Amino acid sequence: MEKISVAVSGAYGRMGREVCRAVLEEEGLELTGAFDLHGTGKSMGEVLGRPDLDIVIKKLTKESLKEISPAVLVDFTTPMAVMQNIEIALQCGVRPVVGTTGITNIDLSHINQWVEQSELSAIVAPNFALGAVLMMKFASIAARYFPQVEIIELHHDKKIDAPSGTALKTAEMIAAARSTDPPEKDELLKLPGARGALQDKIHIHSIRLSGLVAHQEVIFGGQGQTLTIRHDSLDRSSFMPGVILAIKSVPKLKGLVYGLENLIP
Ligand code: NAP
Repeated sequence: MEKISVAVSGAYGRMGREVCRAVLEEEGLELTGAFDLHGTGKSMGEVLGRPDLDIVIKKLTKESLKEISPAVLVDFTTPMAVMQNIEIALQCGVRPVVGTTGITNIDLSHINQWVEQSELSAIVAPNFALGAVLMMKFASIAARYFPQVEIIELHHDKKIDAPSGTALKTAEMIAAARSTDPPEKDELLKLPGARGALQDKIHIHSIRLSGLVAHQEVIFGGQGQTLTIRHDSLDRSSFMPGVILAIKSVPKLKGLVYGLENLIP
C-alpha cells in the first residue's frame, strides 16, 4: 500500500518535533517535509537525533510546498501563522490537519470556504488528546443536569493564546447541551478580570505556569454538591494517537471536520 506523504509546519517547535517523530514511527506514513520560520536551513534529522533523515527545514511558501507536494500538511504553529499556512496548503492541493489553537469562528468559516473551493478536506482540532475529547463529551452530558459551571484551563507558560481552544470548545458544547441558562447576578468586582473571561455565559479561568503541559477542569455546581471533570495531558505524546488518526482519516474525507470527536465512533 502506498504511504501517505506528510509534511509538518512548525516542525522546529515543541509539538512539531513530536509530530515528526510520531510520523516517522508510524507504518503507512512517510515524513517528506519540515517547515518552520525558526531553524530554517537546519537538518530535521539532526534536530530529531535521526541522522538518517534527509530533510532540511524550510520556510513554508507555495513554491516550497509544491516542491514536496505531500498529501497532508500538519500544522502546529501560531495563531498568527496558521491561516496563511492553511490557505497555502489548500491552494497547492494539500489537505491540512491543524492543531494550532487560537482559531476563531470567523477563521473557521474562511477555512470552510477555502476547503469547499478546493474540493479537498481539512481537519481542525483544538485538542488531539482522546481524554480531552471525552472530558468535553462528559461535560456536555453533565450540562443537562447542572446549570452552574466554570472552566479552569492550565497550560505551560509558553502558550501564547488564552483561553485555550479546548476551553472555548468545551464552553460551546456545554452551551449547546444545557436546557437552562445559569442564573444572572450582579457581582462587585474589586479587580477587573477577577471572575475570568466569559464565553456563552460560562466563566473561563486561564493559568500559565512552567512545568505544566495541558490540563483542564470543568466544575459543575448544584444544590449541596459539585461535580469536577478533569483531564491532564502529562506529555505531548498524549496528542499523537489523535494526530495520526487525523492524518490517516483526512484523505478519505470531504469538507472541513472540526474536532477529533467527529473521527471517533
Ligand atoms: P512552539 O513550540 O512555539 O512551536 C510553534 C513553531 O511554529 C515555532 O517554531 C514557530 O517559530 C513556528 N512558526 C511560526 N510561524 C510559522 C510559519 N508561518 N510557518 C511555519 N512555522 C511557523 O509551540 P507548540 O507548543 O509546539 O504549540 C504549537 C501550537 O499547537 C499552539 O497553537 C498550541 O496551542 C497548539 N497545541 C495544540 C494541541 C492540540 O491537541 N490541538 C496540543 C498542544 C498544542 P517561531 O518560534 O519563530 O515563531
